[in-house]
Amino acid sequence: AGFKHDSYRLNGDKLLGGLLAPNFRKASCLSRYQSISYRKSSPHKPSSYLVSKLRDYEKLHKSCGPGTEAYKRSIKQLMSGQIDSSSKCKYVVWVAFCGLGNRILSITSAFLYAVLTNRVLLINEEPDMSGLFCEPFPDASWILPMDFPFKNQLYSFEQDYPHSYGNMLKNNTINSSMELLPSHLYLYLSHDYDHHDKLFFCDQDQIVLRKIPWLIMKSNVYFLPSLFLMSSFEEDLDKLFPDKETVFHHLGRYLFHPSNEVWKLITTYYKHYLAEVEERIGIQIRVFDNETSPFQYVMDQILTCARKEKLLPEVDMDKSVSAQYPKKISKAVLITSLIPDYFEEMKSMYLKHPTLNGEVIAVYQPSHEEEQQSENNLHNKKAWAEMNLLSLTDVLVTSAWSTFGYVAQGLGGKRPWILYKINGTIPDPVCGRGMSMEPCFHAPPVYDCKAKSEVDTATIVPHLRHCEDISWGIKLF
Ligand code: GDP
Repeated sequence: AGFKHDSYRLNGDKLLGGLLAPNFRKASCLSRYQSISYRKSSPHKPSSYLVSKLRDYEKLHKSCGPGTEAYKRSIKQLMSGQIDSSSKCKYVVWVAFCGLGNRILSITSAFLYAVLTNRVLLINEEPDMSGLFCEPFPDASWILPMDFPFKNQLYSFEQDYPHSYGNMLKNNTINSSMELLPSHLYLYLSHDYDHHDKLFFCDQDQIVLRKIPWLIMKSNVYFLPSLFLMSSFEEDLDKLFPDKETVFHHLGRYLFHPSNEVWKLITTYYKHYLAEVEERIGIQIRVFDNETSPFQYVMDQILTCARKEKLLPEVDMDKSVSAQYPKKISKAVLITSLIPDYFEEMKSMYLKHPTLNGEVIAVYQPSHEEEQQSENNLHNKKAWAEMNLLSLTDVLVTSAWSTFGYVAQGLGGKRPWILYKINGTIPDPVCGRGMSMEPCFHAPPVYDCKAKSEVDTATIVPHLRHCEDISWGIKLF
């Protein structure tokens, strides 16, 4: 199905099965209503419980969010250090760090935690993230105001920060029987967190955390799967997500709408290169280590995967394409990568040689930024545009370990072909189909809070397994 101009107007599912609130001004966020005419309608519908929880969340956010009287009172509470038990507003403040894929996944995890615990999620938006997303909640902002009391200290919050929950537990400065709890706490939930930080995932610890009005969270991981191991959230989560494979698919499409500026990049590119073809194949290439994954290995891996899984037609290397007359393009390959080399090699292969089945393949790459520059706003906009373009393809190939690819597959609702990690040798098989479209949690706790011993968290509940691309990671399916 190609691009149908303005068909979103005719499409009854423009609110994604009730996922999106209806009361938004269209012009402020075009992608919210237009993405349905680019992205195929999802066969996965949100549960009615999820829809009603989201509407409840929106009400809470509107009454407790920045600019409200309740927010001002909560800030006073924060400053005084004393908990005011009459206040109905509690918050999670999310603090940024790492690449955009990591950020999107950890924000989604923080949001689900906020929904489950009746908190309001506020984002500490650094300048590098500004103008990427529309506001997700109606008549309210999720951006942490500039005059937030600890705003200038947030960047220095690291694992060793004395006021973090983990360190306070370690130093015995907090426990569940304490009368006077602080009005705020830091939660360190990043890949290198330690045993005490991870006690966040214990039901007993949630009893304490529930009482603290301000939780300031630094995270760069998709910690959401571990919430499914906690009995305090079990019942709610079952009702919210009868289909466990769709958590990020729904929450990601609910939260992250490209801003008008980024949406323009996406739609212009799409209309120009991808709209008129029969099939779009997205290949997301992310190389973490050039030493262990040299260019030729990765190139061979991609071509082998495409051939074995019949994703792309083979070429006849003995023949060359003779006439230069324009031919109808049947398939478009969208490559994303920090470097142009893969694109150039694949493009010239299909330009110079005819395919065995006569199909004409065009190869495109929107940008090659050479290096990750996550502090650069324009760089992040390009990355966000490319995640979206990948999510609009019909067949998706992603690189192992990459949250960039996870976001694309989740938004697009696709189980990708995963290019397994190269560690000095090309793996065999080179790639495999993902068992679900969910992202992988790279750093899950392995602690059984009740038994106080180590446990393999991928074996406890039926809908959690180890990831295909990271043996110690866990993912929902
Ligand atoms: P991960 O490191 O692969 O898990 O993904 P992240 O998104 O967290 O961090 C990688 C960052 O590097 C991205 O956010 C981009 O800033 C940049 N990057 C990596 N691959 C690409 C790409 O294919 N295209 C663009 N535009 N940027 C990329």
